[in-house]
Amino acid sequence: MRRTIVAGNWKMNKTPSEAVKLVETLKPLVASDDVDVVFCVPAIDIVPVVEAVKGTNIKVGAENMYYEESGAYTGEISPAMLVDAGVEYVVLGHSERREYFKETDADINKKVLKALEHNLIPIMCCGESLEQREQGVTMDFIRQQVKIGLQNVPAEQAVKVVIAYEPIWAIGTGKTATTEQAQEVCGEIRKCIAEIYDDATAAAIRIQYGGSVNAKTAPDLFAQEDIDGGLVGGASLKEDFGSIVNYK
Ligand code: PEP
Repeated sequence: MRRTIVAGNWKMNKTPSEAVKLVETLKPLVASDDVDVVFCVPAIDIVPVVEAVKGTNIKVGAENMYYEESGAYTGEISPAMLVDAGVEYVVLGHSERREYFKETDADINKKVLKALEHNLIPIMCCGESLEQREQGVTMDFIRQQVKIGLQNVPAEQAVKVVIAYEPIWAIGTGKTATTEQAQEVCGEIRKCIAEIYDDATAAAIRIQYGGSVNAKTAPDLFAQEDIDGGLVGGASLKEDFGSIVNYK
């Protein structure tokens, strides 16, 4: 039985003091025994947020990470830095990083391997553009992202990875994919995992949907056979996030 995971992606929002205030507001609202709750926060907010969530069910995630151990990579953050700060999850390959910072599937694969080496759980994002959807190449594109992202990841490590399916046209646009569209692609991702590995690995891996999820759309989306929760942007900064976590 896969455990539902709802992760908030704060993106480039909230100063450290604002972050602590938001955690204090959300703490009682996101309490849950059934759902894994993760706040993925800007790097500078990690230390105060780890402190603020102590004693709660909330886990902390980073929004990015570099794939080298240490050295002359000005501005980057290493996996060891994240682990030492108390981070357990890391979002990798978000479409905004792919678009604005030109991250490739090969970069993301290096990051996934390095995160796993350090026992960080990658939330590996994939998703098609509107143009790709209209051209009918969604499945081929997503399959390629997943296959390259997981290259050289052994099955016993792959089961720890969380895959977030986020159609680019639904991120921050208020346009949620229909439950059918979301389920269709998440089901295809699971099939792809079974092809790369085996049925047991495919059955164990958690797949989230992301793209304008809100308190209204979460219950239907998360009830789909192959959708095990969500990666939530805008609504994770509001009290709404409590209703999304407690969607049942
Ligand atoms: C995201 O940032 O991953 C996301 C899905 O954003 P939003 O929920 O705002 O569309």
